[in-house]
Order: sequence, then structure tokens, then C-alpha cells
Amino acid sequence: MFTSKERIKNDIEKLSKFNASPWEGLTRLSFSKEDKKAREYIKRKMEEARLEIYEDAAGTIIGRRMGIDNHLPVVMIGSHFDSVKNGGNFDGPAGVITGLEIARVLNERNIKTKYPLEFIAMIEEEGARFGSGLFGSRSMVGKVGKDDLEKYCDENGTTIAKAMRDFGFNPDNITKAKRDPKTIKAFFELHIEQGPVLETEHKDIGIVDTIVGIDQYNIEVTGISGHAGTTPMNMRNDALVLASDIVKQINLMAKKAGEGTVATVGNLKVYPGGANIIPKKVWFSVDVRSRDKNKIETIAKEIDELLKHECKKQKAFYKMEKKISVDPVRLPRNISEVLKRKCEKLGFSYKEMISGAGHDAMILAGITDVGLVFVPSKYGKSHCPEEWTDYDQLQKGIEVVLEAVLVIAEKEEKK
Ligand SMILES: [Zn+2]
Repeated sequence: MFTSKERIKNDIEKLSKFNASPWEGLTRLSFSKEDKKAREYIKRKMEEARLEIYEDAAGTIIGRRMGIDNHLPVVMIGSHFDSVKNGGNFDGPAGVITGLEIARVLNERNIKTKYPLEFIAMIEEEGARFGSGLFGSRSMVGKVGKDDLEKYCDENGTTIAKAMRDFGFNPDNITKAKRDPKTIKAFFELHIEQGPVLETEHKDIGIVDTIVGIDQYNIEVTGISGHAGTTPMNMRNDALVLASDIVKQINLMAKKAGEGTVATVGNLKVYPGGANIIPKKVWFSVDVRSRDKNKIETIAKEIDELLKHECKKQKAFYKMEKKISVDPVRLPRNISEVLKRKCEKLGFSYKEMISGAGHDAMILAGITDVGLVFVPSKYGKSHCPEEWTDYDQLQKGIEVVLEAVLVIAEKEEKK
């Protein structure tokens, strides 16, 4: 292998020091003190790799390496460097370091590519500070406007616009982050799997063929409240009892749909919420994900019909409101075939799989060809301090991306 495990490990460890919660996991929010330090580190490493560095109007760091023909569109390699609160050291940085390591290897081996390369460290992918996830990539595809920067606040009421200004960026320029799709040939992202599949199946590499579609709903069920002591069981109209039936059924609907379809009720609130009051109203969230849009729509229809039926039976009311709808994205075969071939050449085991989480790659897939590579997560854990990927595994992933980049960016054979 041409990559260096020592350098990869060093980068992960160094980056993990720029952390607002060293006592528990990694917390690196956007436009924070820790962001600034991590940013300086990444820029320094890019400089050492002789990349031409700039920051786009959203605050994403970009290191450019010239190709033989710089009029050609760029091949991008990267991920994000922000984190969730109390997260781990690998979610995001693994992909940023992939870029740094590839740049170093190309220099060492004196390799030129026909197409220019850009190494990317995206900002605010997690949305942990402002609730505005995938901010860097959405800005790149032109989906963030000036108004959005005033709309989203952190928990202290600081808007993105203010945070950017304090940090030295001009929020008025945000739309300049937009890239012309014609100037991008492909985007490669390496990311930790954040689930247990690769480890359980003893695979080195996950090659994502589809990024799942996501629909999210808010559901409100209204019954009648009453005294918990004086209302007989057969005279109740308990919103929580009704809602809990629905929650259980949603779980079964996803199991029935199969093919990796998942459905989750992750948030539920009971009103008025007292030990001695029959619940009048229950609010809950539903998150449905699948590679197949039809399956997502079928589940939504089933939930709606079930609610209608149960509410009619129990004289309750409901409201079901769609909050988010993202279509599944099938990633282009030209890139995944190259990734597969390279795994075979390097002797790494691989699995074609879906990505159940949203990544910057999902957004960029809207404007360019995307390759998304997963490496195993220990015990499938992520977004927690225990998040871990063995450095051997991470190195294998980086090696595969390196090889694939050389194909897509057309390595110039040395004479
Ligand atoms: Zn991530």
C-alpha cells in the first residue's frame, strides 16, 4: 500500500484534540474556537502537501492540486470536519484525512493527474450548532440563500450570519459558494459506516450503490383527557394508548417492507403530561428510509389509513404532516465499478450497500457523479464517544479511494 497508517493515525489523533468536550467524546461545532483550530491544522497540512488553499463563501476548506489540463472539471475528495455534540473522532475527519493522505501520496510518488483535484473539508454537515445540516454541501449546490443564514440560530440565539461574521466570513457572499456542475467531474467521500453491517459480515469496504430516501412526518393524535382515578377504563379516549398501537405497527410496516427499509419513532410527547391525567394529546415523529421510494410512500399511506381507522373507532382525531421528503439517490455505476475493481485488485473484501444516513455525498450527487465508500465502525457505534474504526481498516478504505481517484482523474503514466 502507498498510504501511511502512521500519518492517518496522527491526523485523526491531532484533529480530535480540537474539542470542546475532552471529558466526553468530541464536540466541534461550526464557527467555534475548536473549528478555528481544526481549520488551521487542516490548512497547514494542505500547505505541506503543496495544495492551493482557499475557503469558499460557506466556510468549507478547499485545497486544489493542479492537473495537467486545468480547464478540465475537478475531481473532489473529502468529507466534513464538524461533529455532533459528544460524538467520536472518525465521523467526518476520516474522509477529510482521506484527502490529505491522497495528496501526500501523489506528491511522494510524483503523480500527475489529467484532471485537477480538490481536497475538501466541509463545514456544518451535522448541523449540531444551528440545526442546518449539510450546510457546506448544500451551499455548494446553491441551496443556501442569504435568508437561511438569518433563519437558523444556535441555542444562544446566534444566527449563522452573525457567527460567520464573527468568524471572519461575509454571509452576504453565501451564494458565491455555489459551484457550476460543469466544473466538477466527480466527488469521492469516505465515511465510517456508522452501523454494524460491515463488521458483522467481516467486510473491509462498503461501496454504496444507493443513498436511501427519507420521509419524516409529524403526527398528532387527540383524544379526551380526564381524571386518571375516576374515569372507568371503558369510558376513556386515551390518546397515548392509541398512539402506542400506531408506533408498534409502524415498526412492523418497515419489517414487512424489507430490503433494508427502516422506520423509527424517535420523539414522542404526551400532553398535558401528568401521572394522574389521561393523555389528551400525543405528538410523535416518524422517520422512514428506504432505497425504494414506493416503499416509503406505501408506509406513509399505511400509517395514514391506520390512523384514520383507529381514530374513527376510538373517536379521536389526528393530523399527519410531512416535514421532510428526500428521494433515494442511485449512485452512478461508472464509479462504483471502479471501486469494486480496485478492492479486488488490492485483495480487500467488499459489500455493495445502501447508505441509511445523509452525507455530503448525497447532496453533491445532485450535480455530479459520486463515489461513497464506507469503512467498518466498531460495534456499529457512531455519534458517541465510543465511535471507533481500526486504523488498518481506515487505511484500506483510503487506499481504495486513492486508486479509484487515479482512474477517474486519469493518472498520467510516467514515461
Ligand atoms: Zn458524517
